[in-house]
Amino acid sequence: MRALVVDKPEAGQPARAAFRDFSETELPDGDVLLRVTHSTVNYKDGLAVTGKAPVVRRFPMVPGIDLIGVVEESSNPAVKAGDQVVLNGWGVGETHCGAYAPKARVKADWLVPLPAGLSPAEAAAIGTAGYTAMLCVMALERHGLTPDRGPVLVTGAAGGVGSVAIALLSGLGWYVAAGTGRPEEQAYLEGLGAREVVPRDRYAGGPARPLGKEVWAAAVDTVGSKTLAGVLAEIRYGGAVAACGLAQGMDLPSSVAPFILRGVSLLGVDSVMAPRALRLEAWSRLAKELDRARLKAMTTTVGLDEVPRVAEEILAGKVRGRVVVEIG
Ligand code: NDP
Repeated sequence: MRALVVDKPEAGQPARAAFRDFSETELPDGDVLLRVTHSTVNYKDGLAVTGKAPVVRRFPMVPGIDLIGVVEESSNPAVKAGDQVVLNGWGVGETHCGAYAPKARVKADWLVPLPAGLSPAEAAAIGTAGYTAMLCVMALERHGLTPDRGPVLVTGAAGGVGSVAIALLSGLGWYVAAGTGRPEEQAYLEGLGAREVVPRDRYAGGPARPLGKEVWAAAVDTVGSKTLAGVLAEIRYGGAVAACGLAQGMDLPSSVAPFILRGVSLLGVDSVMAPRALRLEAWSRLAKELDRARLKAMTTTVGLDEVPRVAEEILAGKVRGRVVVEIG
């Protein structure tokens, strides 16, 4: 089968993905064989395909962290041939071959049934980015935050996680502000439900002072680094930031001032190893709560051949919303 594969590079060379013939015998162990119908391009896939960060930790590797497919063979009674399934994370596309190939062999425990009411293409459009956005919303809710507490800021707004977070929060009744470096996407962001656009520059340099004006009741941050530090300094008393990303950087040049003087909380969100019960809840809510017209508006569809180009674009911050990859 033809697949996008990262082979072990020569010493000193980057581990870049290339198309090649990939045998089913090269697939890793697992109790379920899937026919892959769709995947997507997330930021992490961009890193894996281009080799710009050491996301791939085993070779040969088929990248692709989002997998939507149909079970062909299963030796696990929990899953049977013909089941439509969704797989996000668990190291797939990093340490276990992923979705940029027509077939994948995986563990049954990693699979979530395709949620009722979602087509395979819609589940792909949501993908890891959308499921992570829902985990962020759930983290804010668990903290007791509700729309009547004030506005919520979403950073990296025009990206995948950001776009879904805006649509979800707006649907739940929040006043949503979209933090973006792409002012030309104002109409797009408003179409998803944003009420206000905040220029990225406001936070990109970090906080001017340990505490700024109290502006946001809550935030979903996909950017990290100085941006997250700047946002934390503007969170209202008792508010929280759900932090899931590092598009600006891995560092966090903040102070403890927001935490100890305003009781602000930083809520970490991880999708990769999130427990199954949380995944099922997130996917069930996505199927019920995410506006389909908004999902469609944020989605572009490409073929597998276009993944290397899209991988470069997503790292350059040029991809808007979500990119679905049709596999077969
Ligand atoms: P995208 O590339 O689609 O979105 C990231 C957005 O961040 C961009 O669209 C851009 O938004 C903004 N951005 C990019 N570079 C910079 C920069 N240097 N400074 C400030 N803003 C920047 O990626 P995803 O939505 O797929 O993922 C977002 C982040 O979340 C990534 O870091 C990813 O690794 C992480 N992630 C984490 C998960 C987890 O489990 N914790 C799961 C999924 C994603 P705009 O143009 O609007 O400014």
